[in-house]
Amino acid sequence: MNKEKFNILIADDEALIRIDIKEILEENNYNVIGEAKTGKEVLDFCNKSMPDLILLDIKMPEMTGLEVLRELNKNSNYYKVPVIMITAYTDKDFVKEAIELGVFSYITKPIKTTDLLNAIEITRVKSEEMRLIYQEVNKLKEAIEVRKIVEIAKGILMEKNNWTEREAFRYIQKTSMNSREPMKKIAQKIIQENA
Ligand SMILES: [Mg+2]
Repeated sequence: MNKEKFNILIADDEALIRIDIKEILEENNYNVIGEAKTGKEVLDFCNKSMPDLILLDIKMPEMTGLEVLRELNKNSNYYKVPVIMITAYTDKDFVKEAIELGVFSYITKPIKTTDLLNAIEITRVKSEEMRLIYQEVNKLKEAIEVRKIVEIAKGILMEKNNWTEREAFRYIQKTSMNSREPMKKIAQKIIQENA
């Protein structure tokens, strides 16, 4: 994903910091998709549309950055939205927990432009790699799932019709081709009809 399409959400309770970051990002051709000043605003934003990256302040009123992270993690089985924590020097103790919760990086206030841009670039490249890996994982999971269902349907057909495994498989395959429905669907129907 190129920089211009990399949607970044800035979350910090201090308006000046948000303005600062936004300026740096826009000068460097990143797309700032939104700003949040509370943890709740972050979650509301993510419910509507997931950004590609969140720059997340650790200390915010009502809900800390860490609590936001925990909430976000609840909603994703595998792929986590990439987060870069914004911390103050005094937040050191929280950084360890943030790392355990899966942040990609963290930067310390006062924010240095190079620190910010380096962290974002690494995150952009790494998160793209991760996204592709998860896509593959999900494809494999689906393939295993299909195989399981087809196996069950095959067993039903073999027993019912006194067919060989090959005959049962051929039947599912042919029905799928003729009806232009995926084998998974055909197999599910067979299972349902014989339940
Ligand atoms: Mg703060």
